[in-house]
Amino acid sequence: MNGESGAPALPDAARDREAAEREKADIRFMRRALKLAEKAAALGEVPIGCVIVRDGRVIGSGYNRRLTDHTTLAHAELIAIRKACRRLGDSRLEGCTMYVTLEPCQMCAGALVQSRIDRVVMGCRNPKAGCAGSILNLLQEPAFNHQVEITEGVLGEECSQVLQTFFKQLRVRLKSEKAARAADAGEEEEAEKQDSDTAEAVKAAAEAGEPCSPKAD
Ligand SMILES: [Zn+2]
Repeated sequence: MNGESGAPALPDAARDREAAEREKADIRFMRRALKLAEKAAALGEVPIGCVIVRDGRVIGSGYNRRLTDHTTLAHAELIAIRKACRRLGDSRLEGCTMYVTLEPCQMCAGALVQSRIDRVVMGCRNPKAGCAGSILNLLQEPAFNHQVEITEGVLGEECSQVLQTFFKQLRVRLKSEKAARAADAGEEEEAEKQDSDTAEAVKAAAEAGEPCSPKAD
């Protein structure tokens, strides 16, 4: 069957090459997702971005626009799914991979199962809302009729960094706004408004799984 050397060198080499190519593609597409996360940050949104790829081409992309569009449905993943489905003229995303900077929430993980996407590659985990392994693993629930392959930790540091930077800047901004308000008026109602802004930021952070509270200290 094989030569005296024993080990079937060629298949192993081919497999290694394939794995290396896949890893390279994963990094390349996660960079695209990160660029989209930065677009979200520029709008003052929690920076989350994603792309959907089929046959090496991006067929859908999105970034978090929840505050901008005034809807809880404007998560990066749902926007990208909608675009990819429209592009394919199909409600299913078989043969596709999603690259997303943060672990999907329950809503997006549910949509991904519904879409029958093949694979999800994620940057960092979301311990407070993630449903691809952190709180639940909806993507691989055996009772559903579809399971999704998961790869995690691709550009994990960068993906996590972009969130941390965003929340750090948010904290600084809230603090300086609070100081400005106090200097302007010192009215009680201003203090109340600040409290509600802070509460909003804390909520956004919690939903994004931000490790530290953005509450000004
Ligand atoms: Zn989501």
